[in-house]
Parts: sequence; C-alpha cells; structure tokens
Amino acid sequence: MRDVIVIGAGGGGPVVAKELAAKGLDVLLLEAGPRHAKPREEWSTFEEDANNPLSGYFRLGPTDRSKPAWYREWPQNSFVWQLSGVGGTTQHFYGNYPRAYPGVFQGYDGADRNEYDVKHRFPFTYSELVPYFEWVEATMPVMTAAMGTKEQVFFKGAETLGLPVQTTKTTLRPSYRPQENAILQPGGTAGKTSDKNLLNYPQATGCTFCGYCFQGCMRPNGAPRNQFAKRSTDNSYVPMAITANVWARGGKPAELIADAYVTKVHSEKRNGELTATGVTWRDNVSGDEHREDARVVVMAGGCTENPRLWFNSGLPNQNGWVGRGYTDHFFDWMIGSFDDYTGNPKGVGSSARLDYPGYGGLENVGLPPALNAFSGTLSDSGIRGQYKNGRGATGPWDGPAGRVMGPELKELMAGGIDRLLTVLVITDDDVEAQNRVTLSALPADENGPIPKVTFKQRKRTRRTVRNREFMARKAAELLRGAGAKKVYRVDWAPLILHVQSSMRMGESAQNSVLEGSGEARAVKRLFVADNSALANGLGGPNPTLTSQAVATRTAEKIFQTYFDGDPWVRSEAPVVSTDPRVSVRMGQLGL
Ligand SMILES: Cc1cc2nc3c(=O)[nH]c(=O)nc-3n(C[C@H](O)[C@H](O)[C@H](O)COP(=O)(O)OP(=O)(O)OC[C@H]3O[C@@H](n4cnc5c(N)ncnc54)[C@H](O)[C@@H]3O)c2cc1C
Ligand code: SF4
Repeated sequence: MRDVIVIGAGGGGPVVAKELAAKGLDVLLLEAGPRHAKPREEWSTFEEDANNPLSGYFRLGPTDRSKPAWYREWPQNSFVWQLSGVGGTTQHFYGNYPRAYPGVFQGYDGADRNEYDVKHRFPFTYSELVPYFEWVEATMPVMTAAMGTKEQVFFKGAETLGLPVQTTKTTLRPSYRPQENAILQPGGTAGKTSDKNLLNYPQATGCTFCGYCFQGCMRPNGAPRNQFAKRSTDNSYVPMAITANVWARGGKPAELIADAYVTKVHSEKRNGELTATGVTWRDNVSGDEHREDARVVVMAGGCTENPRLWFNSGLPNQNGWVGRGYTDHFFDWMIGSFDDYTGNPKGVGSSARLDYPGYGGLENVGLPPALNAFSGTLSDSGIRGQYKNGRGATGPWDGPAGRVMGPELKELMAGGIDRLLTVLVITDDDVEAQNRVTLSALPADENGPIPKVTFKQRKRTRRTVRNREFMARKAAELLRGAGAKKVYRVDWAPLILHVQSSMRMGESAQNSVLEGSGEARAVKRLFVADNSALANGLGGPNPTLTSQAVATRTAEKIFQTYFDGDPWVRSEAPVVSTDPRVSVRMGQLGL
C-alpha cells in the first residue's frame, strides 16, 4: 500500500510528488511515456526528429518509437499539442511563467471586475495563492528573461502603444515587460559565444542562447540534469522528487516508473462514500498489468487524458461536468516581415510580453523554419483572399486574414526567418460547457477507449471573440510600430496547447468537478493536480505557473487531510531545484 500514487509526470504531477516526498510520504509517480534520462544521447536539434507528431521523440506515444503514436479524435483542422514522457508537455514549453490575473479569482474587486469570466472564478482569492506562486517561483527558479534582438524589436513596437513598463509580478493594468521565465539566466561564457568548446558546464551556466527550446533543452553541455537551462519538470521537480531524501529533512525519494499507462482508478464505498483505493497500470513494453493500492490517488494526466481515465474507470459524472469547460486560449498568430535582422530564431523562444487584463496578452515566439511555415498555414479562414465566406477578416493587417500559402509563403520564408517577428495573441477565453472531452466511438487502443475532443471554435462567447479581435489589432499595431513592412494575420485554427479546466475546481457544485482543495466532489481521496483542475482560462496568462502553484496548495491539503500533517508553505523556506545536493545525487543515480 502506497501513501500516494500520482498519475502523469507532466507539468502538474511532479509538483505533488516532490512536495509529498519531501514530507516523507511513500510516493509512486507513474508516467505513460518515455523517461529521456540521457537526452544528449537520445535527442538531436533537428526539428523533424523532435516534433514529428508520429515519430518524433516529443510525441504522444510509448518509448519505442517504432511503435505507433497514440491516436486521438480531434476536431477537424485543429491540432492538440500534448506530449507524453517525463516532463510531459513542459518538455516543449517556452518556460514563460506569468501569474494569472487577479481578476479571475474569488473576491476580486478592481474597477474591471466584470471584465473577466465571472461565472467561473477560482473558489479562493488571489492573495491566498500568492505564497504558492512565490514558492514555485523560488523552486524553479523563475527569472527575468535573458533577451536579444527580437525582444528589442518587440519592445520598440510596444512603446508605440503608449503603455508603461510593468515592474511587479502581479499584473493589474495594461503594460509590457520582459517575460518572467523558468529559464536560467546565462552565466560565465554562456550567451557570449557560439564556440561550442566554450559552452561546457561549469565554464558556462544557464541558457546558452542556442535557440533550440522547441527541440528540448539539454544545455549547457555537461551540466547535471537539474542545472539544464529550461526548467521543464524533467529538469526541476522530477529530479527533486526522486532525490527528496538528500535535500529535505525526513524526505523519502519518490519512485518514478515510466512507460506505465494507468488504465483504471479503483474505487469502493467506504463509510457510505465512494473512495479511491488505487490504480491499475499497464507496462507499454511487456503489456503486463499491475495493480497498486494507495491511501490517496492524484490524477495529473492533463486536460484530455484525465476525463478519459475517469470515464474508463466508471467513476460518476453527477453534474455532467467531467471533461467539460475545455478552454484553450483562443489564440491568433500575427507575422511581421521586416527589411532588417530581427533575430527571431535566436536565443530563448519567447522573452517579451504585453498584457491587457480583461482581454489577454501578446508575446513574441521564435520558431524553427518548419514550425514557422506550419504556423503561417494553420488558419480557419482558408487561403488568404481565396474565399468569400465571411472569414478572412480585414483590418490593420495586410490583406484578409488567412493561410499564407504558395508564392506568398515562399517569399516570406525566402526573406529568412531572421527577418520575421511572430507574435502570439493569447486571449482571455471563457469556460464553455460545449467544449469538452468524451469517449470516442473510434476503435479503442491497447489502453481502452480513446478520448474525443469537441471544440466549437466559431461559437465562442461574445466576450472571447471581442478579446481576440482586440488583441489581434494591438498585435498589428505593435508590429507596424516596430517597423514591419508587411503584417499577416493568420486567424489561427485551434492549436490546443494552453489547455485548461476540463476537470475544473469551482465555487459552484453545479458546474465544477473539484472542491477548492483539488479533491473530487464525487470521489473521496481522489485529487486532480494539473491544468485540468484550473477554474478558468486565467485571464490569458500562460498556465503552468498557476497550475503548479495550485498543485502545491493541493499537496498541502492532501497532507493535512489524510496524513495529519501541517502545512509548510507559509512557515518554511523552499529549496531551489538547482541545489547542489540534487546534482550530486542525480550523478550517483547515473541520471
Ligand atoms: C509548444 C508549447 C509551448 C508551451 N509554452 C508554455 C509556456 O511558455 N508557459 C506555460 O505556462 N505553458 C506553456 N505550454 C503549456 C504547458 O506545456 C502546459 O501548461 C503543461 O505542460 C500542462 O501540464 P499538465 O500536467 O496539465 O499536462 P502535461 O504536461 O501534458 O502532462 C500530462 C502527463 O501525463 C501523462 N499521462 C496522461 N495520461 C496518463 C495515464 N493514463 N497514465 C500515466 N500517465 C499519463 C502524459 O504522458 C503526460 O506526460 C506550452 C505548450 C506547448 C505545446
Ligand atoms: S535557448 Fe532554449 S534550448 Fe537553448 S539553452 Fe536556452 S533554454 Fe535551453
């Protein structure tokens, strides 16, 4: 019998595993995908090798890449960007760590209080979450981003919008700023040279500005795993969880098993209440099934997989909200082409942002060439100018919105990706019951019926549509202000990567799955601790910091409720994930 079983080692699961292992609990962390323990031997910096959704090392599938990826039923024209493996989708992420806007929490009373998703607020206040934000920010650690030319270009454009520079971590008004990133600042020779011989640890520390964030960070060369620049959870929380005995007094190392697909959460009636008792997981390599019992089970498989596992486990869906309210931030993509060098693919992917609380935000995003072409062609409006179906809106961009295709794409790309500036529009979208995960009628795979994602992209609320339109226009203004000779609006189809809320916590039992503690309303001792637990789309900011702050709070609630422990976030100091004790132990473990 384990104390706690955590399902999924992505953005959220390792946070709970690390916190509870540090308190001396017996924690088992099960991850469906691969381990990638030695990325320098397993990864390359080639785009195709990493990002091919069928065969890339960053795909949704088992370790053995000769086996097929796991298929899912998605809305036509969309792309759900989820990864399996230790680190989950944070292996891909850009490390942007802004806090949620205060307006999305209970009790917010600013002048703009009605500008947010007021029907779906968090069931606690922003000030209650602040110590948890601070705890995660210190643990990762989060730093002001290292910046280069593309951020200078972005800021030049942002200045023309007449907004102030933001200087605090809490965003209260329209402003622009360097990102707060979970990426270590360059130190020593890092960032100062492209001579590979000078980019070895410890001569070089932190970000080497290589620009390969999308293919996964394994730098500086020779650095211990917990000193890699990008703080995806495989480089931060997971190393801490499995070494908890060396850096936490009374800590016990969590056990991590990869290639372990959980197919069922077990439950039984205890004292008249349905109670989680353990899991069955399947070894992807041998196909063998294993059963493990636990005092507490934590689901952290992500927004698409948690509802699937819930349904496949036969757990109750009393108010019909399991899988509903799947939000994705109604993204859009703006491309500016410039005569001069912008440095777009160089350095950390995204180090500048602009926020409009109540609407959303903008951030620069540097991409490798194939992804740049993919992003320019992923549109709901069809090919620019070819259709007259009411889409392809016109505005302060050049021509109608839509796919940049054919000769136009060739011209754009031939100008060089280092003469582009690409801006992601991130809207504050509303939780909507119609956007959801159900079980697909397509054939099941080896782990059971697969999930189906339903997304009514063109039936968003008026507020969400307004927000996206407002932010797209601001992005066009910013790009022109920065000196773009041409601005393209793509009208992005759903590229689902900031996915949230499909198992949401909420103020009302009518439209939420979880209590504010993260515990399922319908099943005792079953918690959810990842993006799916978030109450709403956060107002637009990238979700991982908030998810991890909430997961830290959930870990405390588990410890208090089921293990008679005391909370620690307000009374202890966090240990930073780059702590040398973690590095030494990882070396001893050969990891
Ligand atoms: C290209 C890209 C860039 C991004 N950039 C940012 C950014 O800069 N900032 C930011 O905040 N966010 C960013 N995100 C989003 C970020 O990656 C997610 O917020 C975060 O990873 C979500 O964490 P999660 O735990 O909910 O899900 P995931 O990270 O997807 O983790 C779920 C894990 O659970 C495993 N799993 C699922 N089902 C099972 C099962 N049944 N049994 C065992 N294991 C299971 C999966 O294999 C996976 O590893 C980005 C995403 C993408 C795709
Ligand atoms: S640019 Fe990205 S991949 Fe390269 S070292 Fe920095 S964080 Fe890692």
